[in-house]
This record gives sequence, structure tokens and C-alpha cells, in this order.
Amino acid sequence: MKKLGLYIHIPFCIQKCYYCDFNSYAGLEALRQEYVGCLIKEMHMYKERLGNRRIDTVYIGGGTPSCLPESSIMAIMDACAATFNLSAHCEISVESNPGTLSGQKLRAFKAHGINRLSIGLQSWHDADLKRLGRIHTQRQFVDNFDAARQAGFDNINIDLMFALPSQKPEQWGNTLDNIILLQPEHISCYSLKIEESTRFYTDYHAGRLKLPDEETDRHMYHQALQKLAQHHYRHYEISNFAKTGFECRHNLIYWKCKDYVGIGAGAHSCLDGERYSNICVPAEYIMQIQDGSLPIAESTVLEVKDRMAEFMFLGLRLSEGISAQTFYDAFQTDIRSVFGSQIDKFIRLGLMKRQKERYQLTAKGMDVSNQIFIEFI
Ligand code: SF4
Repeated sequence: MKKLGLYIHIPFCIQKCYYCDFNSYAGLEALRQEYVGCLIKEMHMYKERLGNRRIDTVYIGGGTPSCLPESSIMAIMDACAATFNLSAHCEISVESNPGTLSGQKLRAFKAHGINRLSIGLQSWHDADLKRLGRIHTQRQFVDNFDAARQAGFDNINIDLMFALPSQKPEQWGNTLDNIILLQPEHISCYSLKIEESTRFYTDYHAGRLKLPDEETDRHMYHQALQKLAQHHYRHYEISNFAKTGFECRHNLIYWKCKDYVGIGAGAHSCLDGERYSNICVPAEYIMQIQDGSLPIAESTVLEVKDRMAEFMFLGLRLSEGISAQTFYDAFQTDIRSVFGSQIDKFIRLGLMKRQKERYQLTAKGMDVSNQIFIEFI
């Protein structure tokens, strides 16, 4: 029976960061308890459909899951273990932000089976953190990181961002150097994108935000590639780096187009060829669950051509690339009969390469990956 991943969305944050367009909200403290009860009800709604299917990864993301009291996270984990068939070596991650963690909370997470902690830091520099609207300081991050190690977390990810307003390559290099000294098992590095309906979007279009240009952005990305490789972090996905054996198994499910179920407001699922997403607004999600029905807002049965395109643009994010054999097994069609012209063009341009039966982006290809992906859609 095929394994799957389980995503649980916690949409609460202490404050909305200025760049964030995720489905997350500040000021909804009053809904928290009811929301957690609804997550547990939604899990029960899936029990029959999933039957004995084995869950290989659980990812509690957000929002800021760590802003919930530990009793809520423990209730979610207990319900998860009681409702689903979790594999013996299930990877169970929780996202957190500095300033919302304590030794006691971290020990409770660990005691309830959470074995991977992701900490959103973004920058080592307090001036950047302030400009981004983050709630924490570098000092709080370091204290939380140390407390996580003391609580026994031996699989920690740190989220970083570069190309921040007024950020210089030296400062980004300094962020990387300090994080490398802490030796987390996993590091993700994303370039800041200005998204609609954020405070940064308004500021940027009003000329109040000074961002590094495209060339500096790419230079910063190369700094990360170089520094992290020097310290034995494997660049396994465009924006993700890990010590051997610490790649994020949950995210690999997305990149390899495997099945996953999303629980909670705005969560997405992909199950047996159907893709669907939940109602985003927490109060509406709660109402729907309390009415006794699945809170699905949209669903689509994916056409074969869409699944083929996803296979390409998600799989090519990985350094290992895609396998022609896996493509054939999934679609009973030769990859070249569908995407031969694109593949030949990108190989000719030095943006893709072939190694035995696999196709991968080259380093140059990773730099312009979005332009490449568009041509597979
Ligand atoms: S903490 Fe994360 S989810 Fe919450 S507002 Fe900031 S970036 Fe968005």
C-alpha cells in the first residue's frame, strides 16, 4: 500500500511579517482552542478513507505552530497517533519561530514523538529582523536553538532568507557563517519575493523599499551554494541543503509527486489523482467542520498532461533530477515523446544534463529554473 504524508496547518501567528502572504493570521487567539478541536475532528473524517494506509511523514506547519500551548500540540499528536497508521520511523516535524519556544515546550514536543524541528530565523541581524516585521531577536533564536539541542532535537532545520531590503552580500555571508557554526542538520535559503497583499508590496510600489538587484540576488544564492558545500551540506533541492541523511522527507513527497493529505484551514491535499484545498479562513473552516462536512473549497481531478508537467517541474527542483524510468512507470509513455523538444533545447543551452536515465538541471539551469519550468507547463 502506498505511503503518504500528512500536513497539519496552524494558521496563527503573533504578528504578521511584512513580506508574508501565507494563510496565517495575527489576533485570532480566541479561536485557537476550537480550531485544534476541529483539526482532530477532520482527522477522524479521513480515518475511513485512509484506512490502513501508512503515514510516513507528519508536518505541523503554519503560521506558527509553536505559538500554541504545548497541550494543543500534544493533543494534535495524540489524535494523529490514535487515528492514523503512522510508520515506525515516521518523520514528524514542527515549524516554530524564536520567541515562541521554551525548554518545557520543546521537551513536551520531543516526548510526544516530534523528531524534527524547523526554526524560522531568516537573518542573523536584528536590523533585518526588525525590517521584516519578525517578532524575535538573534539572541532569542540562539537561546531557543540551544534549548532545542538540550531537549534532544538532533534534526533541526533553520529557514533563512536573502536579498532582503538593504542587505549587502557581506551581511548575508555573515548570516551563513554564524548558522554554519551552529551546525544544524538542514538549512533552507529562499530569496525574498514581494508578494501581493503584503505590506512590502505596498512599500515596494510606493518606492519605500530598496531591494538588491537581480545580479546581487544571484550572487547571494551562489554565496550560499559555495559556503554550504564547503561545510558538507548537500544541495539536494534548489533552495534546500542538508547533512547526509537529513533531507526533509516530507518535502520530498511534494517534489516527487507522491500522495499527501492536508488538514486545517487552507491545507492542500493530493490523493489518488485528485487535488483539493480546504477553506482558508479559520472561522469558516471551523463552521464547516462543526457542520460535520469536510471543509473542501476546491477540488480538481488532474489530467494526465498536468500530472506530467508537475512531474517535470517539481522533480527538476531536486539535484538528483528525474528518472525517465519513473516517468514511464507513472504514465506508460516515453518521456522523450512528450518533452523531447524541451529537454533537447535545455541540454543544448547547458541548462540541463543527462546522466544515464536521469535528467537534471545544471548549476546554470538552477539559476534560471523558473524560466525552465514554465516551458514544461
Ligand atoms: S511567522 Fe511565518 S507564517 Fe507567520 S507571518 Fe511570519 S512568515 Fe508568515
